[in-house]
Amino acid sequence: MINLHVHTWRCRHAIGTAMEMAEEAARARLRVLGFAEHAPLPEEIDGWHLPLIEFPAYVAEVEEARSRHPELEILLGLEMDFIPEYEEFITEFASQTSLDYVIGSVHYIDGWNFDYEGALAEWEKRDRAEVYHRYFHLIREMVERIPFEIVGHLDLPKKFGHRLPPELWDEVEATLEAIRNKGLVLELNTAGLRREIAEAYPEGRILRRAAELRIPVTLGTDAHEPEHVAAGLDQALAYLGTLGYEEIIYFRRRRQLALPLAELRKSP
Ligand SMILES: [Zn+2]
Ligand SMILES: [Zn+2]
Repeated sequence: MINLHVHTWRCRHAIGTAMEMAEEAARARLRVLGFAEHAPLPEEIDGWHLPLIEFPAYVAEVEEARSRHPELEILLGLEMDFIPEYEEFITEFASQTSLDYVIGSVHYIDGWNFDYEGALAEWEKRDRAEVYHRYFHLIREMVERIPFEIVGHLDLPKKFGHRLPPELWDEVEATLEAIRNKGLVLELNTAGLRREIAEAYPEGRILRRAAELRIPVTLGTDAHEPEHVAAGLDQALAYLGTLGYEEIIYFRRRRQLALPLAELRKSP
């Protein structure tokens, strides 16, 4: 099994050290465990990113987990927020060669943290189609401008049940094309399975289209606690198989590697 999207206590809204996450991954018999902590921003906007000053400590923590768990392939990544005002900082931070990979994600639309429970009321004031429209534009801007490998949880705005309006399908198409043209990898993120929508990100229709376009995929559980280190991976893998996917992508020092699906399925 493989999971490229795990957080630690250092983002201040997850629990568990890198070591505790790795212990759980070893118990669940994962082969590849990738840490993708919320990357620092030039100024702290909501208090839920890795503080810039702690970046070296995060790296050291992941390295310590790696040295204690040789049975796992442990990777050092980041989940980078795309916020246009910080483009210069984000570009520089995402370019670091010491990282194995970067997941690019959009959690903010013009300063609104739309996937945060505390900002849920804002949804009432917004037009859903406009939210998705703006969201996909930001994703495409990120895809065009930031050096990263993986697009995280592509339809995140549905988190609290605000599903993609069907008339926005053109935006999905344009976004998938941009992802394909840039040679990026799409993340199948199982966190949605643990939410009330009970569905992974992205939804089946988007993933089916991605498969048709031959966009490669990777897997992540978006674990914010040890208990979720392997959550939903079996289900996700089985689903990818039905779509015709034959491998799961991961990255070592920004170099793309693949694990055959058949091999992952037969591992215990
Ligand atoms: Zn988080
Ligand atoms: Zn995220």
